[in-house]
Amino acid sequence: MRAFSYEKPTSVSAAAGAVAQNEGAKFIAGGTNLLDLMKLEIEVPTHLVDVNGLGLDKIEATEEGGLRIGTLVSNTALSAHEVVRRDYGVLSRAIAAGASGQLRNKATTGGNLLQRTRCPYFYDTNMDCNKREPGSGCSALDGESRQLGVVGTSDKCIATYPGDMAVAMMALDAVVETTSPNGTSRQIPLGDFYRLPGDTPEVETTLQPGEMITHVVLPAPVGGRHFYEKIRDRASYAFALVSVALILQTDGTGRVALGGVAPRPWRKDSADAQLPNGAKAVMAELFREANPTEDNRFKLVLAERTLAGLLAAAKE
Ligand SMILES: Cc1cc2nc3c(=O)[nH]c(=O)nc-3n(C[C@H](O)[C@H](O)[C@H](O)COP(=O)(O)OP(=O)(O)OC[C@H]3O[C@@H](n4cnc5c(N)ncnc54)[C@H](O)[C@@H]3O)c2cc1C
Ligand code: SF4
Repeated sequence: MRAFSYEKPTSVSAAAGAVAQNEGAKFIAGGTNLLDLMKLEIEVPTHLVDVNGLGLDKIEATEEGGLRIGTLVSNTALSAHEVVRRDYGVLSRAIAAGASGQLRNKATTGGNLLQRTRCPYFYDTNMDCNKREPGSGCSALDGESRQLGVVGTSDKCIATYPGDMAVAMMALDAVVETTSPNGTSRQIPLGDFYRLPGDTPEVETTLQPGEMITHVVLPAPVGGRHFYEKIRDRASYAFALVSVALILQTDGTGRVALGGVAPRPWRKDSADAQLPNGAKAVMAELFREANPTEDNRFKLVLAERTLAGLLAAAKE
């Protein structure tokens, strides 16, 4: 690990300013992803700005009937929160399906949204990777791509977004609240938060330099039955090959988002509209522009069967 300096500001504007003023600075929250990347020298920040002293660790009701989640709320606290369990079950289940108990105790809401890909070549500094080193090439294109993306990818990067929480938040129409170094706040619908790789896979979100996540806002509950099914190589402590977040109303309408298949949580209104017509119709929409490799073509079938299983279970 390379040497770095450290500070722990006491206001959001000071934290955002500290990152904006120093090109080599990064926010640190739970550190469960960033420190791993620093140890491997994949991320080499020269200055860490610790956001743990900012008091953003509360879950509050909004006037609209939803929830406002502070960025420092741990994954454990969010998953276990009474209202989340009752009204946003898809979120509670998705978080519980991720990582391990110890990691979830440390991992924060904002940090979880910003965790980086698990593409094996991204972690191997001997291999070319456009995301780690722009312009160097993508080792996965001619390499092992079983875990990687089938849709939304580009000829520069086929990595997936690895998290679970964001997949459920996508189904819930969550909104990310941020504060910029100049003190202005903005609200970014999660659907506009993650960027597709295109020619610049190193740019993963629409956050600007120094812009800090302060909260995630969930709209008022939409009701229905909530499911999160994660298919992985091991029963626990593994990232999704495919995951399906499903909110299903009694009339068969609903919402569906996928994890493990694309560079961001994958949802389309046109696919939601096909829910009453079954899993095949939904996946035809979600995978309309799919471009799988021979290694990961199985994900198209796996996702369809996973959704079909959930729809069958919902009828029981
Ligand atoms: C072995 C292992 C298994 C795992 N399995 C899973 C899994 O199955 N599913 C899953 O979803 N996750 C999994 N994870 C990932 C884990 O959930 C993330 O590491 C964690 O959620 C990141 O949160 P953090 O607070 O520790 O973030 P940090 O490591 O502190 O930060 C992550 C990134 O977010 C930035 N950041 C943090 N807070 C803010 C903020 N407020 N504003 C702007 N930027 C910010 C940091 O600069 C950094 O770039 C696993 C991790 C490990 C190590
Ligand atoms: S898929 Fe993306 S993250 Fe993986 S090696 Fe290629 S450029 Fe890097």
